[in-house]
Amino acid sequence: MAQFSILNDVLGPIMVGPSSSHTAGTARLGLMAQALLGEEPAAARVSFDPGGSLAHTYRGQGSDRGYVGGMMGMDPGNPDLARSLGLARERGFAVTFAVERLAHTSHPNMTRLELTGLTGRRVEVWGASTGGGMMTVTRIQDCPVELPGTEYELLVLGPAEALAAARGVVGDRVSWSAYHDGLLHMRLSEPAYPGLVAELEGIPGVSRAAYAPPVVPVAARPGHTPLFESAADMVEWAARNGKSLGEAALAYEINRSGWTEDRVQAHMGRIWQVMREAVERGLSEDLVLGGGLVTPSARGIYAADGAGQLLGGPVSLSVAYATAVMEVSNAAGVVVAAPTAGAAGVVPGVLVAAAERMGADRKQVLRALWAAGGIGLITARRATFAAEVAGCQAEVGVASAMAAAGLVELAGGSARQAEEAASVALQNSLGMICDPVAGLVQVPCFGKNAMGVGNAYASADLVLGGYRALIPFDEVAEAMLRVGQAMPRELRCTALGGLATTPTGTRLKQQYERWEGIRP
Ligand code: SF4
Repeated sequence: MAQFSILNDVLGPIMVGPSSSHTAGTARLGLMAQALLGEEPAAARVSFDPGGSLAHTYRGQGSDRGYVGGMMGMDPGNPDLARSLGLARERGFAVTFAVERLAHTSHPNMTRLELTGLTGRRVEVWGASTGGGMMTVTRIQDCPVELPGTEYELLVLGPAEALAAARGVVGDRVSWSAYHDGLLHMRLSEPAYPGLVAELEGIPGVSRAAYAPPVVPVAARPGHTPLFESAADMVEWAARNGKSLGEAALAYEINRSGWTEDRVQAHMGRIWQVMREAVERGLSEDLVLGGGLVTPSARGIYAADGAGQLLGGPVSLSVAYATAVMEVSNAAGVVVAAPTAGAAGVVPGVLVAAAERMGADRKQVLRALWAAGGIGLITARRATFAAEVAGCQAEVGVASAMAAAGLVELAGGSARQAEEAASVALQNSLGMICDPVAGLVQVPCFGKNAMGVGNAYASADLVLGGYRALIPFDEVAEAMLRVGQAMPRELRCTALGGLATTPTGTRLKQQYERWEGIRP
């Protein structure tokens, strides 16, 4: 089972909007493909299956910008990602996108990337973004692999004798290796030295070698064992050690990364800073949102709240903040996927406003973020963040559960109470479909983020007041995945159902296509 990181996969990546799975995850996949090519790309062909999600959303949700930026070496948070298509044209990097039947479609976001380098070197890479900015490379040169982008990966192709010689060259730098059908896959305990790939390709019989370093900020400590794999274990660990849920999640990340507590906390502090900056930017700048359909409203909501015209009390300020973040994301600004960019407004909307109102210090704020991250971590392990797999319950529903746990932590509640508040928030979200109008991340996404804010407050208040969730969070997360699997694909981020196909939704899609200059 994948060893998820809260900093890589749950409260992250720090990214250019609007979609974590479709913009950030694709940028990471592009980065991996470029690394596996081993040189600067001159041309690329990117293909999606017509039955998947990206065929219908890759322009509106920025997958084209993500793939192209990644193949040019940009990470998901690079502000230049927003203009990667133009930069590629200026550089003479020729990229074509195709919607065609693919031989492998194990994930709705499955993509084939065929890259040709400046020297004519070629590589074919298959992979899928899997939600919240995570991705996996699943094939290279038609050999099945599993590269999650968290390790130093080294691949060598050739007959058995040549691969044995290659293994000997790499020596004790290998922390794990596997041989399968002409492919030697090694994970290194340190970065490869310059020239290693060329050295391996110089071995008689080796047809190809490729190396890819991690595309995430926090590499996994080789050989570590996770502190817990379920919410029940996390709560039990916290109780046994006299810790809160946030402190338990912090301990998980320290154990996974091998970093010092100061270093891990500094990274979380940076995440908090980006969240606050997104709120401030959304409330102060004249933003232009992609798609030409929606005009910004966060500043109006904020002003109305300040004038005492709104009815939600502290929730109203959180709604203004959440909307501000979503508007920044849709103006191709930098936000934190929490756990996804489509749901990026909920956690900062709730926690920034609540921390301000309560006068929380940095230590309390970081603990609340860790509590939110712990709930997201368990969801990543037991279910998914991908709307393509489980609808909006996996995005806004999970974000709302994370924010509820963060609120309980801020209020000084126990680990059990934080877990139960998350359970209630996700219980309330089951069945929520994903039906983005025009394939953008705006309608109904802004409204759903605001609803996720309200749900987080309600769930935290219920539990802090004595209500019991009864169904453990682990079971709710697994139920969410089953509900998602029962949804038709039209309601899982394909823009082929729900609001996206109403008469107005259809008209707005045509309006968007004219705005983009796209011929339907
Ligand atoms: S409806 Fe929900 S899951 Fe779908 S794009 Fe919008 S925020 Fe994401």
